[in-house]
Amino acid sequence: MTIWNELFRLFYPALCVSCGRPLVRGEDQICIRCLSDLPVYHPSAEKHFEQIAAICPFVGSIEIFLRYDKGGKVQHLIHKLKYYGQKQLGFRLGVLAALHLQRAESPICKADVLIPVPLHPRKQRKRGYNQAEWICKGMSSVLQIPVDTRFLHRVSYTETQTKKSVAERWDNLHSRFRVDGTCDWQGKRLVLVDDVLTTGATLVDCASAINAKSVTSDVTLFALSAV
Ligand SMILES: [Zn+2]
Repeated sequence: MTIWNELFRLFYPALCVSCGRPLVRGEDQICIRCLSDLPVYHPSAEKHFEQIAAICPFVGSIEIFLRYDKGGKVQHLIHKLKYYGQKQLGFRLGVLAALHLQRAESPICKADVLIPVPLHPRKQRKRGYNQAEWICKGMSSVLQIPVDTRFLHRVSYTETQTKKSVAERWDNLHSRFRVDGTCDWQGKRLVLVDDVLTTGATLVDCASAINAKSVTSDVTLFALSAV
């Protein structure tokens, strides 16, 4: 860091995205106090997995990092990530998620490709970035697994329908995503990554699009947070 950067930081300190207090050296986006307060999803993603596996038997497992409570810290962070242009926060959360997965010796650490759930191109233009892609970039910096945004596309602009069950939503929206026929995912271990899992319908939808191409039978779902 140059002297000018140091001076700039002295007068305009970066603030914690969560609590607004000035960050100190070594902290990035989130202060250490807020970091230690982040609610890790516990004990496991079993309840989501059972539901999803019932309609989507080709999904191998599902892992979740943080617990998303209404009005809680994680909701606040995700809101900043999605609606306030804070893509670096996505990177930081991805790094934290990867460190958590490493500690848990998750099979995700041995995957071949990280695939963010895509936004519709129109929405991505409006937002300027895909938050799931920035989570992937952060994970990739730790796990050294490449991020691939080339082949999975969102073809429908439909908003999520949070009141419907996973089966209803899947049935209604199963054509929201499409996988390009030229993809080179043959036999690879894929991880689909999203920011929030509510019923799992979006991730299931993506997994179905991949399954329809029969490129691999090894698909894991990862959500940064879940309700
Ligand atoms: Zn804080």
